[in-house]
Amino acid sequence: MKKLIAGNWKMNGSIASNAVLVQSLLEGTAASQCLVTVCVPAPYLAQVQALVAGSGIDLGAQDVSQHESGAYTGEVSCAMLRDFGVRYAIVGHSERRQYHGETDAVVAEKAQRALAAGITPIVCVGETLAEREAGRTEEVVKRQLAAVIHTNGHCISEIVVAYEPVWAIGTGKTASPEQAQQVHAVLRAQLRAASAQADRVHILYGGSMNAANAAQLLSQPDIDGGLVGGAALKAVDFLTIIAAAQ
Ligand code: PEP
Repeated sequence: MKKLIAGNWKMNGSIASNAVLVQSLLEGTAASQCLVTVCVPAPYLAQVQALVAGSGIDLGAQDVSQHESGAYTGEVSCAMLRDFGVRYAIVGHSERRQYHGETDAVVAEKAQRALAAGITPIVCVGETLAEREAGRTEEVVKRQLAAVIHTNGHCISEIVVAYEPVWAIGTGKTASPEQAQQVHAVLRAQLRAASAQADRVHILYGGSMNAANAAQLLSQPDIDGGLVGGAALKAVDFLTIIAAAQ
C-alpha cells in the first residue's frame, strides 16, 4: 500500500506563513508517490482548501465534535468539515486526551461520527512514559483501540491508526524502529482479529519523526506512514520525510 504522511500543524500557523509552507509543499510533492495530508487549525481550513485544490495534498482537521450539531459552543462538526473538503481528521490525539479530558469512549464516538460523514479518522493511541516503564504499553494501546473497534465494528478497516507514544511527542525522543514496530505488530494483530480487511489500515508512527529518522522508521513492515508534528512546519523537513516514504 502507498504510505501516508500526515502533518499535524497543531496550534501553529498564520495566513502568511501557511501560504509559504503550502506553496513549498505543492512544489515538492508534484511527483510524489505517497499519500500526503496536512491537518490544519480549523480557522485555516478554507485557506488551505483553496491552496491545495487540484493537487495531491489532502486536507485534514485536528479534531471533530462527537455531536452532530446543536448547542455545543466552540465545537466543529463533521458536516462543517465536509463543507471544506476535509478528507482526514485526527481524533484522540494525546494532547486532547490530556488537556481536554477525552476518554476512550469519546474518541470512539468521534471516530464513528467522522466515518459516518465520509471523513477518515486518524485515531491516535499511545502510552505515557510511566505506563511504558510499568510494562503496560500493550495493555494501554490495545484498550484504546478496542474502544474504537467496539463502537465501529466492521467499519474499522476504514480508519487510520496512529501509534504515538506520549513520551515521544514533541520531546525529540523517538521510539526506536524496533520499539515502534513491536507495537505496530500488536495493533495489526488486533485489527486482524476484528476485520478481514485489516491489512488495508494504515498504521502511522508519530512522535518526533524527523528528516533524519524517518527512513528507518518507515522501513519497518507494519509502519505504513507517519503523523508528523514539529517537522511538518518546515517544508524541507516534511518533504524529506515524504521522500523517505516513497
Ligand atoms: C504529533 O503531534 O502528532 C506529533 C507526532 O508531534 P511531534 O512530531 O512534534 O512529536
